[in-house]
Amino acid sequence: NERDIICAGCGVKIQTESKEMLGYTPPSALKRDVIICQRCFRMQHYNEVQDVSLTDDDFLKILHTIGERKALIVKLVDIFDFNGSWLPGLHRFVGGNDVLLIGNKVDLLPKSVNRNRMINWMRKSAKDLGLKPIDVALISGEKGIGVKEVASLIDRLRKGKDVYVVGATNVGKSTFINKMIQIFGGDEEQMITTSHFPGTTLDMIDIPLDDGKTLYDTPGIINHHQMAHYVAKNELKLITPKKEIKPKVFQLNEEQTLFFGGLARFDFVKGERTSFVCYVSNDLFIHRTKLEKADELYEKRLGDVLTPPEDPQHLPSLVKHEFTIRVQKVDVVISGLGWVTVNGTNVKVCAYAPEGVGVSIRESLI
Ligand code: GDP
Repeated sequence: NERDIICAGCGVKIQTESKEMLGYTPPSALKRDVIICQRCFRMQHYNEVQDVSLTDDDFLKILHTIGERKALIVKLVDIFDFNGSWLPGLHRFVGGNDVLLIGNKVDLLPKSVNRNRMINWMRKSAKDLGLKPIDVALISGEKGIGVKEVASLIDRLRKGKDVYVVGATNVGKSTFINKMIQIFGGDEEQMITTSHFPGTTLDMIDIPLDDGKTLYDTPGIINHHQMAHYVAKNELKLITPKKEIKPKVFQLNEEQTLFFGGLARFDFVKGERTSFVCYVSNDLFIHRTKLEKADELYEKRLGDVLTPPEDPQHLPSLVKHEFTIRVQKVDVVISGLGWVTVNGTNVKVCAYAPEGVGVSIRESLI
């Protein structure tokens, strides 16, 4: 009996007749365990960070569902957290489905960074991780850069099939979907409904496409290797770049060390005086010291001089990654933080990141 249903979010009476009126909810949403009005639903899903954590079980069910259906899979990654936002395992479940790989947050890249090189690096990294995307694109969901182009790319690549948008939490999936709705939506209230992911209690958002097919926005999946999970919410804001990154240049002699707060460490072990260009959040303090003092500094001052994290209790210990660089200009990438461009040949460096956080090396994007 519909008259008795109250929105679990704001308490208004739920109705399914008039979408301009308070309490409207699409009839399809009445089947859910917890019923909320469309307005609360939109606030929950699109204006706030979703705090739903998926169990591994739910995650597998989602992957199975996606693999069993004929669909185009659109996979979003954060270009500053490539490994952390990767969702390992997805490629084993995609079945015969095509995957379009989208790198989000391109607005943060300094102008000097070559977009095509970034795309090539994404393609190569994907391949190394076992996935061969049908295409790779760069966008900024927030600024709307490339979103229209990607929308038509999706429409072309899906060849009349459904679309599943997947991504780890924090890659900007909600922002991207919102932008698509803004660009194409018109009446967004009418466009969005929800349904359950088969076998789970997780909601997914369904956006009807014009040929009767559907674009499914899947729940954000938490990858426990994301740097994001090792810092407090306010610290995450600090390490996440918000504006175009201003590269910071350090001319270092061998046996000097840079600390990125207390979250990562970069040693220049051996080589001629070399320039190191850091592409990290403008707000993240980089502390420079002597290599011989670095261990002690970290041990004694983690949490005060070397911060974030302010509370290092949950930070896994740092793992060392050693690189000998022979070609000029490579980037040492620390997933979730950014990267350091090394401008020299015959240089030995060590990058340290919390256990589980990806560290890799690539040809420079400059
Ligand atoms: P979701 O968890 O994948 O749904 O991610 P959200 O859409 O909630 O975005 C996560 C964070 O990334 C938020 O702080 C957004 O403001 C930010 N964000 C999303 N898209 C972009 C983008 O294109 N550029 C930048 N700079 N930030 C973005």
